[in-house]
Amino acid sequence: MASIKCPKCGAPVPFDTGVKFVKCPYCASQIYVDRSGAGFYYALPYMVKENDAIGMFKRWAAGSTKAKDLDKLAQVAGVKRQYFPVYMFKRDLNGVEQVFIETAGSTTLPGLHSLKVPAGDLKIFDPSFDTQGAELVKPDIEMLSYLNTLPGKPKEQALVYFPIWKIDYVFNQKKYEIVLDGSSGEVFSAEFPMRSSTAYVAVAAVGFLAIAAEGLVATSSMLAAAILIAVTVVAVFGAALFVARRM
Ligand SMILES: [Zn+2]
Repeated sequence: MASIKCPKCGAPVPFDTGVKFVKCPYCASQIYVDRSGAGFYYALPYMVKENDAIGMFKRWAAGSTKAKDLDKLAQVAGVKRQYFPVYMFKRDLNGVEQVFIETAGSTTLPGLHSLKVPAGDLKIFDPSFDTQGAELVKPDIEMLSYLNTLPGKPKEQALVYFPIWKIDYVFNQKKYEIVLDGSSGEVFSAEFPMRSSTAYVAVAAVGFLAIAAEGLVATSSMLAAAILIAVTVVAVFGAALFVARRM
């Protein structure tokens, strides 16, 4: 249940959706539940087109922490555009304006709790706004549940529909998903197929043992040990390079 701060005693007062007035259980004052703050609706236009979204996903999948050839082997199973609702709070913190973004829809999708609304790109969201066929996700979190917890004084609050691409893909018979910020192209992912580190660990272990053994050689011949260590370092470097390219 949402709550509102009692303007008289400061206590948090819970209220049901739909009510206009609520009585403070501590000081018994009548409180008007003001929802007028949510008057403005904005939307961000899609800067990333569908083909670009898939290209950005592939580039992300080619990253060094991803499973080998993920960019080539991942099969895109679905591409969906969604307008996800967030609240934008402008607050006055000792004369300095600060913007806070909070989700207005409950979601388990990655990244949606850290979206950044680029200033200047906001368009008024009204019936004439072209959503380009994107599904509008309905807000189901009350704005008031954030209002009382934010620092500073309220300057403006608005609902912003944020453009996202949701891309589902399959790798090794397992389904994964990413969220791509349709405004900036940033990729968010909770879980993805990772590059196996076993080969790297093996190379490092062999190198370590070799150098430890060569350290013993150094007690009888410094020069022999120096040559052996130099050879080992080159070999470990070469093996690591091989692992990086082939495995
Ligand atoms: Zn009160």
